[in-house]
Amino acid sequence: MTEQNSTPRVAIVTGAARGIGAATAQRLAADGYAVAVVDLTAEAAQETAEKIVAAGGRALAVGADVSDETQVQAAVERIATELGAPVVLVNNAGVLRDNLLFKMSQSDWDTVMNVHLRGAFLMTRATQKYMVDAGFGRIVNLSSSSAQGNRGQANYSAAKAGLQGFTKTLAIELGKFGITANAVAPGFIATDMTAATAARVGMEFEDFKKAAATQIPVQRVGVPEDIAHTISFLTSEGAGFVSGQVIYVAGGPLD
Ligand code: NAD
Repeated sequence: MTEQNSTPRVAIVTGAARGIGAATAQRLAADGYAVAVVDLTAEAAQETAEKIVAAGGRALAVGADVSDETQVQAAVERIATELGAPVVLVNNAGVLRDNLLFKMSQSDWDTVMNVHLRGAFLMTRATQKYMVDAGFGRIVNLSSSSAQGNRGQANYSAAKAGLQGFTKTLAIELGKFGITANAVAPGFIATDMTAATAARVGMEFEDFKKAAATQIPVQRVGVPEDIAHTISFLTSEGAGFVSGQVIYVAGGPLD
């Protein structure tokens, strides 16, 4: 396909107001995509969209709670109308509600399931028809090294492991339409999310990052651009034979 220059393809990145999502939205814009920057409110998404436009790209800030079916439907329809048919979807929106199992409330459990799992399901279901029509699509779901189990994260690790199964099934169902689905599973990435975890355990973020880095083979924590780079590869046209994979981006081996 060669239309990239005249009509940029459209990518959707959820949870793109900050952190990994913001870096990914900016990277995909630099790769030539028009990017729908989705977050809980359009106001929150605006800053990322403005950065993309300032760098010469095309972007639309969209407010939607990915766990709400009506809002997801409206957001995807608006993106298709105002930006064009989406052929890339990065399900990145996420929240933490960490607690040891005996203290974890049902609402802590449900919130995490709803944002990560139901959110990825609703966004993917609403977007896939545009990819099927285009005969081309790239879906990337954000899993986590916590999918392998992590103290205080029964809800989050279950959701992130669930996303790996979801990804593999998407790859099987949608492959014949030219659509790939992969999961990126980051290790420790310095964002507001990990800063909040540091605060929860009563540590300065800098000390928390230094302590984490000593446990990572490359001896540093990750930055959002590390994940954006991997997603850039998985969403590229040349990655059409990579599907149903989970790629750990954690500065060392995990499987
Ligand atoms: P972050 O907290 O900095 O950003 C998450 C974004 O998602 C926020 O802008 C938030 O408003 C948005 N969001 C939350 N709920 C939403 C909803 N219902 N609808 C729409 N948007 C919503 O987090 P981050 O560190 O950038 O993480 C991004 C993704 O990567 C998440 O899925 C997270 O679980 C995953 N991840 C992060 C790390 C890490 O170390 N930071 C590691 C592994 C996986």
